[in-house]
Order: sequence, then C-alpha cells, then structure tokens
Amino acid sequence: MKAKRNLSDILRERGYRLTPQRMIVLEAIEGADYHISAEEIHTKAHAKYPHINISTVYRTLELLKELGLVAETDLGGGRLIYHPVGKAHHHHLVCRKCGKVQDIDESVFERLRDEIGQKYGFDAEFEHMAIFGTCRSCSG
Ligand SMILES: [Zn+2]
Ligand SMILES: [Zn+2]
Repeated sequence: MKAKRNLSDILRERGYRLTPQRMIVLEAIEGADYHISAEEIHTKAHAKYPHINISTVYRTLELLKELGLVAETDLGGGRLIYHPVGKAHHHHLVCRKCGKVQDIDESVFERLRDEIGQKYGFDAEFEHMAIFGTCRSCSG
C-alpha cells in the first residue's frame, strides 16, 4: 500500500497555515464518499465548529483549486461540486430534464483524446467533466 498523504499534510508541507476552520473544511472534503458542494461542506463543518462561516469554506476551496488539489465541476444551474483530485477519475452525465447525475469512467475519452492528439497535435485534458444531455428514463 502506498502512503496516503491527506490534503492537510500537503498544505502544511507547502507552508500554509492550518487554522482549525481550514482543517475542518479539509476533513469534510476528504470524508465525503462522493461529491460535496460548498453548502454541504459548510453544514458538516458547522456541526463541529459552529463559528465557521461559508466564506471560509469558499476561500479554502479556492486555495485547494489553485493548488490543483480539488476538482471542481459545474453540474449546471450553479451546482458546483468538489472532489479531492485523487477521487476524480470519472466524468458525469447530467440529465437536463430530471437533474440526475451518473458517473462514467474516464477511459471513455481515451480514443477521443488520441484522435485530438493525432489530428490537432493537442494534448487534451479530459478531467472530471460534466456532460449534459437527457437520461434514459427521460428520453424513454
Ligand atoms: Zn465526480
Ligand atoms: Zn433524466
């Protein structure tokens, strides 16, 4: 098993100050099994640390994004969700009609990525994308 460094270790190594608020936000992101929104992070954090406010959550998320430690995806309608980057090896299919979100494996884009590379000499980064459309039950 390879040693797993968590977000707070990485921030500490890079010289960032870890306030209790920041630690709680990091724990909420890492503890989430699936995606988590800023509001959900705030709700979780608030239960442990009632003085935390949502702007701390946003600021911490901004920092983590800048450092490339979390993936942010816009599911449409202002729904932004987050993962630690290590858990972001998939894409999302988002139904415009019912809002349902399904995961698909990132390997789905391998051929397209190769093709873009060959045709355009462009190294495309398909990272944790939201793909919009209509789900099976809504199109049925
Ligand atoms: Zn995801
Ligand atoms: Zn649907």
